[in-house]
Amino acid sequence: MKKEFREILREKNLTALPNVLLASAECAPLSKTGGLADVVGTLPKSLAKLGIDARVITPYHRVIKDKYADRVEHMFDFYCSLGWRQAYVGVEKLVLDGVTIYLIDNEQYFGDKIYRGGQAEGEQYAFFCRAVLDCIPNLDFTPQVLHCNDWHTAMLPMLAKTQYQGGMQAGLKFLLTIHNIAFQGKFGFDYVQDLLNVDSRYYTPEFMELNGCADFLKAGCVFADRINTVSPSYASEIKMPYYAEGLEGILNARSHELSGIINGIDKKVFNPHADKLLPATYDRGHLKGKAVCKAALQERMGLEQRPDMPLVAMVTRMTEQKGFDLVACILDDIMQHEDIQFMLLGSGDERFENFMRAAEYRYKGRLCAYIGYSEELSHLVYAASDFFLMPSRFEPCGLSQMISMRYGTVPVVRQTGGLADSVEPYNRYTGEGTGFGFLNFNAHELLFTTQEACRLYTESPVAWGNLAAQGMAKDFSWRASALEYRKLYRGLFT
Ligand code: ADP
Repeated sequence: MKKEFREILREKNLTALPNVLLASAECAPLSKTGGLADVVGTLPKSLAKLGIDARVITPYHRVIKDKYADRVEHMFDFYCSLGWRQAYVGVEKLVLDGVTIYLIDNEQYFGDKIYRGGQAEGEQYAFFCRAVLDCIPNLDFTPQVLHCNDWHTAMLPMLAKTQYQGGMQAGLKFLLTIHNIAFQGKFGFDYVQDLLNVDSRYYTPEFMELNGCADFLKAGCVFADRINTVSPSYASEIKMPYYAEGLEGILNARSHELSGIINGIDKKVFNPHADKLLPATYDRGHLKGKAVCKAALQERMGLEQRPDMPLVAMVTRMTEQKGFDLVACILDDIMQHEDIQFMLLGSGDERFENFMRAAEYRYKGRLCAYIGYSEELSHLVYAASDFFLMPSRFEPCGLSQMISMRYGTVPVVRQTGGLADSVEPYNRYTGEGTGFGFLNFNAHELLFTTQEACRLYTESPVAWGNLAAQGMAKDFSWRASALEYRKLYRGLFT
């Protein structure tokens, strides 16, 4: 019988660190639709520096095949059971920046979009979970921890513990990281049972049932050994019904096994001192380059050349989560009463996109709405702007506010989740802080806080400069987060 990893460590008096396999639907730079990809792509590199062999297992999506096919090594293949179906599983390997990434290949499931949407997405990731568990014993790597991320991989602990007894899979320790509790993977139980042979005794509120659905994320919350989220504040918030989307019961019950670790940002990618995507670089003591960037953005986007006018920016998904409904409420107020420019780079809900297109027409020369996704332009926007708006309804962690601080752009945020943990509100008496914050999800609070920020910029340039410099001095590197993850992994064995 296999000995528990903890016993082995104790016997050998080792302080060895566990091997970790991160399972995720996306992984930067291979495949990315959001912050999850950044975490999974960057964390293993920082863990390696702390002595942990962390590898990634992720689908071999079309976008990866198109770009990396000639660098990928075929390891082995087999057929796995998906209910009554037999599905091909190719296991490929790619080493990128020193990180080993295992890619699960199947044209039917991963030959098109990263997320197929609806029921099809349930089948897509049910397959992925099954393929991961079936292939693990044959990898050239023996993980002790399987680190699952969001609902797409949240079924792994339940399947391992209920269907792989006696196998090495059941002996693994499972960490589930919730990057966004709003997405839970809810499907009819019959559908899930047909795909994954889940015993109907698990279809109860005690296990995976929620509001008449089989809920993948709930199953993960029940069966994972530990749960964490991407900021300490969000870890507290998701115990409340307002944020928990129905999972408050299980999360309160497992409160002592739930924690939060804030993400970092890639300091090499986001570095105003050496950013090749900028027309001029700068750092804390030498801000001339920031003014050059502002002029370049104004020129490129058809905004008036006004170095003195505060430039307020957003780089965002245009959704209610990001507080776009608040922005829509106050935009006319702020454009009509304040002497400011507004730069939006984003895409999302059609109604918000149309609203911003119309606003651009109304405020020609002072407002630019660039509807679309552009990594390159985003760097210029972060560097060129004076303020960055992020009035999120909820924000598990948020990277944009950290990026903007790094570029000396002062964030104006709603103090929720990771925004509350990373932005220290300005104290006008002591001058301390790194941004502006408001508490309630309320359009007027956003309006007044933005006005306060603009006033500081125009009336007290020295105070504003100090505030921006304090933000730039903050350390948002991955090292601190990786240290916390290392502690969490080790904690799984004590
Ligand atoms: P979320 O993952 O919830 O969308 P985050 O703040 O955690 O929000 O991460 C968003 C990331 O995506 C940031 O790096 C941001 O710069 C980038 N981003 C969002 N929208 C765009 C866009 N339209 N163009 C370029 N980058 C974008």
